[in-house]
Amino acid sequence: METVIDAHDVTKIYNEKKIPVHAVNGVHLHIGRGEFIALVGPSGSGKTTLLNIIGGLDYPTNGQVIINGTNITAMSSSELINFRLHNIGFVFQSYNLIPVLTARENIEFIMLLQHTGKKQRHERVLNLLREVGLEDKINSRPGELSGGQQQRVAVARALASKPQFVLADEPTANLDSKSAANLLEIMAKLNREEGMTFVFSTHDQRVIDKARRVITLVDGKITSDEKR
Ligand code: ADP
Ligand code: MG
Repeated sequence: METVIDAHDVTKIYNEKKIPVHAVNGVHLHIGRGEFIALVGPSGSGKTTLLNIIGGLDYPTNGQVIINGTNITAMSSSELINFRLHNIGFVFQSYNLIPVLTARENIEFIMLLQHTGKKQRHERVLNLLREVGLEDKINSRPGELSGGQQQRVAVARALASKPQFVLADEPTANLDSKSAANLLEIMAKLNREEGMTFVFSTHDQRVIDKARRVITLVDGKITSDEKR
């Protein structure tokens, strides 16, 4: 399997308190194209920190992250911004949609940054909203949508840039069980039908059950890595 993400001996130490915190501690991880991975572990085990590092939102204290053969750890922060824009989709627990923009505008935003033409943008927005079952909400603002609908817009937005892979940090944490199941089904479908690679952190056993690989973090270390 083609490797998309290669984390080599990644460590992140936070020094903000008197005692340094080893949030991630010597993690080695290979993620192949088309994988559907749950990252699990207790609160504070380093899931968010690891996702942020493999997604280039943060730098490791030690180690390297190589994405499609490119060492992103060696990039400057402005190079990283550009790299993320073209390669990585993010879905956050709190959706992070822009409140004053409609669903269409939230999704288009990233394509505007990529200088995608107007016709292509409009077509892609429609396709993405159709994919997540929200065509009829194209002109709704986040405040007019339920949590589940907002999270589906966030997934559509993450996919707008045609990323190599999507990282989702507890994407179902704020959703009722029906919306969570619905969101997961959409992610699983995109994985199955388009080969999109997903890594998502979660506490939800029903979400974990859908994963084809489950990686467990405890105190910043991988304690198990199971394929099924
Ligand atoms: P999880 O997502 O699994 O709950 P986190 O990655 O958020 O874990 O946190 C891992 C550890 O790093 C925790 O001990 C947390 O308190 C600490 N931590 C996370 N972010 C920061 C930060 N910005 N500054 C200092 N410590 C942090
Ligand atoms: Mg977290």
